[in-house]
Amino acid sequence: MTEKLHIIGGGMAGSEAAWQAAQQGAQVVIHEMRPKVETFAHRTGHLAEMVCSNSFRSDDDEQNAVGLLHWEMRAANGVIIQTADRHKLPAGGALAVDRDPFAESVTQALTSHPNISVSHEEIDTLPDDGQWIIATGPLTSGKLAEAIASETGAEALAFFDAIAPIVYADSIDMSKAWMQSRYDKGETEAERTAYLNCPMTKEDYEGFIDALLAAEKTAFKEGETAGYFDGCLPIEVMAERGRETLRFGPMKPVGLTNPHQPEVKPYAVVQLRRDNALGTLYNIVGFQTKMKYGAQVDVFKRIPGLENASFARLGGIHRNTFLNAPTLLDDRMRLKSKPNIRFAGQITGVEGYVESAAMGLLAGRLAAAELRGETLPPVPATTATGALVTHITGGADAKTFQPMNVNFGLFPPVEGLKGGRRGRKDRYKAYTDRAKADWTAWLG
Ligand SMILES: Cc1cc2nc3c(=O)[nH]c(=O)nc-3n(C[C@H](O)[C@H](O)[C@H](O)COP(=O)(O)OP(=O)(O)OC[C@H]3O[C@@H](n4cnc5c(N)ncnc54)[C@H](O)[C@@H]3O)c2cc1C
Repeated sequence: MTEKLHIIGGGMAGSEAAWQAAQQGAQVVIHEMRPKVETFAHRTGHLAEMVCSNSFRSDDDEQNAVGLLHWEMRAANGVIIQTADRHKLPAGGALAVDRDPFAESVTQALTSHPNISVSHEEIDTLPDDGQWIIATGPLTSGKLAEAIASETGAEALAFFDAIAPIVYADSIDMSKAWMQSRYDKGETEAERTAYLNCPMTKEDYEGFIDALLAAEKTAFKEGETAGYFDGCLPIEVMAERGRETLRFGPMKPVGLTNPHQPEVKPYAVVQLRRDNALGTLYNIVGFQTKMKYGAQVDVFKRIPGLENASFARLGGIHRNTFLNAPTLLDDRMRLKSKPNIRFAGQITGVEGYVESAAMGLLAGRLAAAELRGETLPPVPATTATGALVTHITGGADAKTFQPMNVNFGLFPPVEGLKGGRRGRKDRYKAYTDRAKADWTAWLG
């Protein structure tokens, strides 16, 4: 292979795409604008930086579609998932990682690969020739976004999700809080005690909801729309939907016993998850917010145990740029109007680190095959990777297209199994067994 593969963006998708293509023998150049040009969410110049949560979500490859995606990426020698495994933190069944060593290791793996070079520059036009993958993510720089929009003619849709605040562990009052994973889930003691819990009485909860509703929020700029992705709703938006919504969402008190008062059932519980290996930082789970900074401090300090909390980072709002992929991309992830350009990652309308890396994995392999003059068979839609790519490149309704997480709803049904809640466990096991067999055959 003499022709080079150029990848714009060295995030989750671009890093994985580069690794996969390079492992297949392609010569790859990653064009990454950081640290020369920054985004408001990234903090470093590392490749594959996790911009918010430190979790790759569930690692259950039998009953969970994200866990299955982990499995598929491991089977395909994925650099993102294998590096995450090496920097895993206890998180009660989820794959949480120590973010800085993780990103440093991915950067090291890519920069030391003989087939990969990294050029730190912003690309601001659409290339006319050569093989390219655009993996510039939710914070695609303005000029490139303009160039894409003028080529596709399609409107790029911006909407907002939000960053959850991070608290210094030593500022939490452990005479009120305690460590426990919900239902004591996990195989090791560290996993069974991975979460830090802050209990609330009914009175605490009602006061907290009042404060949340009254808090000053960040106003949207002109031209921005507040179309939240439902999986990442700001906490105050959840509260606006009903005073009890949080008690049935991130603040649900089930599966937890307060050792300080074992006989009293908490009315609500705020959970914090470890954010680094040292255990010095904890993020407040599900507390994405667009409250103003001062208001956040006032509201979060009402939480029992956090009265004296110091915040390493407060919550924020962010933009998400994504294509109307069902109309613009073919089933090989190529731009129909310029097939020398592929798209990968969150910009294709998938949502999340894992899904973005998976789309990078696929784009890297497809591009490397094309450079070799080969055509890979389509990925079976029965696999997690195949279900996702099938959805974004045609399965979804283009008119109402919104970013999508991987989930079993995207999979073709397995015949002959019981429907409904009762049959769920067997059904999910059948989906994952079938996916593993089909993915292994496809890789082969
Ligand atoms: C603030 C924020 C919080 C988020 N929180 C979460 C979360 O908690 N969990 C989760 O799973 N997902 C979260 N996401 C979504 C997350 O960004 C994606 O899931 C994932 O990072 C997307 O991977 P990607 O490779 O598509 O994009 P990114 O990882 O963002 O990588 C894109 C890369 O392209 C570079 N780039 C952009 N434009 C150019 C250009 N013109 N030239 C050169 N380089 C360029 C950027 O610097 C960046 O390194 C969040 C997103 C944002 C913005």
